[in-house]
Amino acid sequence: MCAGSCPGPGAGEVGAVSTMIAPVVPSNGAVRPLGLDRVRITGGFWAELQARNADAMIPHGHEWVERVGWVENLRRAGTRPAGPGPVFADSDVYKLVEAMAWETARTGDAGLDATVDELAGVIAAAQESDGYLHTRFGRPGQPARYSDLEWGHELYCYGHLIQAAVARLRTRGEDTLTRVAMRAADHVCREFGPAGRVGVCGHPEIEMALVELYRATGERRYLDQARLFVDRRGQGTLADIPFGRSYFQDDVPVRGRDAFVGHAVRALYLACGAVDVAVETGDDKLLDAMTRQWERTVAARTYLTGGMGARSEGEAFGEDYELPPDGAYAETCAGVAAAMLSWRLLLATGEARFADLAERTLFNVVAASPALDGRAFYYANPLHQRVPGEPREPDRPSPRAISSLRAPWFEVSCCPTNVARTIASLGGIVATVDAAGIQLHHYTTGSVDAEVGGRRVGLRIETAYPWDGTVRITAERPIERMRLSLRVPSWAEGAVLTGEVLAGDGLTGGADRPVAASAYASVDRQWRVGDELRLVLPVSRARYTYPDPRIDAVRGCVAVERGPLVYCAEAIDLPQGASLDAVAVETDAPPARGAEPALGPDTVTLTVRARSTEVDPTAWPYGPRPTAPGDGAEVPVRLIPCHLRANRGPAAMRVWLPAKPRREGSP
Ligand SMILES: [Zn+2]
Repeated sequence: MCAGSCPGPGAGEVGAVSTMIAPVVPSNGAVRPLGLDRVRITGGFWAELQARNADAMIPHGHEWVERVGWVENLRRAGTRPAGPGPVFADSDVYKLVEAMAWETARTGDAGLDATVDELAGVIAAAQESDGYLHTRFGRPGQPARYSDLEWGHELYCYGHLIQAAVARLRTRGEDTLTRVAMRAADHVCREFGPAGRVGVCGHPEIEMALVELYRATGERRYLDQARLFVDRRGQGTLADIPFGRSYFQDDVPVRGRDAFVGHAVRALYLACGAVDVAVETGDDKLLDAMTRQWERTVAARTYLTGGMGARSEGEAFGEDYELPPDGAYAETCAGVAAAMLSWRLLLATGEARFADLAERTLFNVVAASPALDGRAFYYANPLHQRVPGEPREPDRPSPRAISSLRAPWFEVSCCPTNVARTIASLGGIVATVDAAGIQLHHYTTGSVDAEVGGRRVGLRIETAYPWDGTVRITAERPIERMRLSLRVPSWAEGAVLTGEVLAGDGLTGGADRPVAASAYASVDRQWRVGDELRLVLPVSRARYTYPDPRIDAVRGCVAVERGPLVYCAEAIDLPQGASLDAVAVETDAPPARGAEPALGPDTVTLTVRARSTEVDPTAWPYGPRPTAPGDGAEVPVRLIPCHLRANRGPAAMRVWLPAKPRREGSP
């Protein structure tokens, strides 16, 4: 894989404005993204989620931002000191508009396009003559503008407004929304530029938005302002708060730390902005610093699901190996942000590990947030639910981020709209190109249409991934030479490439060619129409996964994974009388394929053999000798993919289950 030494595919386009229909379009990097018009997701796991997004999640979000008065806040800007909702409520209208803009590009939905125009009109009317736009500050009866940079979220809201506008600019061109966003961005450059206020926002977000606006318009001042915000962070311009300045990453300069700290979404959004600035300004040291922080965070501060943020207090990263499964916060937005960061690092470096983590997070955190009906969401994503809990009220926003069941909306409702914009734009992270060929990072049924070396290339992809591991790729256009690179996930030891096209490479037709995990498997050759290559990933081999012993909270436990999916046990699947608190998995026997539950088409469940543990509920739970779990009767434990949890009513749940110590002499 090209990792920096080969010519950057965008090298000739530095400074040029790209018209690519994608959320992130760097001017250079190891690989170049392909837009939503070039990659179509037409079937399977992600197509179902995109359909759910279109049919339920986006309309549901629209209904709720109206219902709770957050659009009304914009309609009545200036006429009431404080409307309903949190201080950053404007941003959820913007995130929803961004989701609608990507969705309009994906489907050509004229009704949704008109809705974006209508909301853009509302937003435009709320903007003040100098470009300022926020419903809670600066008007009669309200606090002064920028009088509370720690908590006011004004710049954060601009960030989401700008990202929505970039989506619009790239999908339809200049319009009301894009003009509003540019006026706001120009206002920010004047107000916070080199001669302006020396401040940053308590919630990073505007940094990456300004870089993207620069990429979409070519206006250098937006990039300069983003760099200024990144450089200013960590200089202590924000006031100290009870959580400490590390909460909003203003304790240490961006490039001066080892791992992500503080509020997880803030840390990850800031890292996205820093990577964007590094890529556009050629600041390799900054890019290296962000890569090192990503590495360390993935090594010591990330859940098996890809979730980030161990503490509910401060919604924050914990110390290294502080990863309790029951207390896990792992906010959905942190999952979205982690995927955004990994994507940026992948574009910059071309390295498989970034897509690997993004896949883990997308399947096990982002896809876990929405209910199967798309009308309720998880905010926090723990890996252990100790009590079944209560269903949320369907007609009231939940006041709590942590709940045993998904809620239709939250008083702080950042997650549902974040999921919606991510799913609507997923086509943008499936594939990339470089000078030699196409790279597939994520596997879905669909098509890729790209240009390689000035020649048009078309690929058709068919797969039932992640339920099945075969990915069939067929060339739909002839090309004299093209390198097709397929990501082989880190868990996929034993993966093979197969197909008649390999015959030309010195193997007999159809022979299997083993390929290494955690890398890209490439086939570089001439392609004729109908040439087919198959990647066979060992998805059907479910596996036990053990934690590093330094993760104290799950020491002695085991989890089960199948392909990219992390599994969990729900108490409602246990036999009568058995308890999730008192089973231990016998790992001598591999997980077996289970009976299919009513949890959607193609779902694969698993069963593991466990033994119950005899417990005395009144006994002092400490003693002079270690207690070995699993000394009772045999109990089959059914496991489901953890993204499907809590779709059958309240249930206790665990990803990490105690492992029964192996017998002497067992493997
Ligand atoms: Zn959130």
